[in-house]
Amino acid sequence: MKQTGQIVRSYGRRFIVESGEHTYDCTSRGKRVDYACGDRVDITVLNDKQAVIEAQQPRQSLLYRQDDWRTKLIAANVTRIFFVTAAVPSPSEELLNRCLLAAEAADIDPVIVVNKSDLPETAAWLDKLQPYQQLGYKLVTISAKQGAEALLPLLQGQTSVLVGQSGMGKSTITNALLPDAAARVGEISTALDAGRHTTTHAALYHLDADSQLIDSPGLQEFGLSHIGATELAGLFPEMRDFIGHCRFHNCTHRQEPDCAIKQASKDGHVRPMRLELLQKLTNRALNA
Ligand code: GDP
Ligand code: ZN
Repeated sequence: MKQTGQIVRSYGRRFIVESGEHTYDCTSRGKRVDYACGDRVDITVLNDKQAVIEAQQPRQSLLYRQDDWRTKLIAANVTRIFFVTAAVPSPSEELLNRCLLAAEAADIDPVIVVNKSDLPETAAWLDKLQPYQQLGYKLVTISAKQGAEALLPLLQGQTSVLVGQSGMGKSTITNALLPDAAARVGEISTALDAGRHTTTHAALYHLDADSQLIDSPGLQEFGLSHIGATELAGLFPEMRDFIGHCRFHNCTHRQEPDCAIKQASKDGHVRPMRLELLQKLTNRALNA
């Protein structure tokens, strides 16, 4: 029997697919394993517990892991990325930038979540993050220890992921949003005898009928190597107005004279740190 469903867990080569009220333990037809949590798929049901994935429906978006991006997919069809950060312990601004670029490349709306607002160090970190708000990125300040309700309106109607360095409070937020999530993972594993496949790459949970949260424990880096050199500048909102105004139409915004983006940086429209990141990623893309 053929039907459609959504991948809610990926265990490397095995997938848990939800279809209507049913949950199936699936392998894929043939050798294909490049499915991701969140993918909508066509399945053939074998019995009440098992099915085979036949095909994947077009994806709205796709997030890659940093290394070996061709085989390591994080999640598909995500519509919102929450970048969880906090003043303690030592947040990375570069990681935030990489997250924003990954979101722009995937056409996903990013939200910066500043957690641990109860700590006095938070004020200085918020000052440093102000330029990102000026670029138009949403920023929400919370103390996950007290609760994460402030995120609910932003989660509504979306397929979301929480990302960020470890220690910033991702698990605390996830547990606040999904108090029974851990229990449910256990249930599914037992029911499907998936004990041997304990490494879950990602898990999708339903917050309500139209809102989903994908939890991926190791989500601390962002694969950007799938982005071509010519696409990079367009992922920086503050550079967009200057693209096309360089002397050379194929300017890479590095050594070339009369580069409109480098000039914009001199004029204070583009922060040096962002220009340097563009140049670093361009070097990598062109040498790849
Ligand atoms: P993860 O590694 O991103 O999943 O972070 P955790 O959720 O495990 O949190 C890391 C540490 O930060 C833990 O010791 C939490 O208790 C603490 N933490 C999380 N949220 C808050 C908060 O709002 N305020 C404070 N002060 N600590 C928090
Ligand atoms: Zn240029």
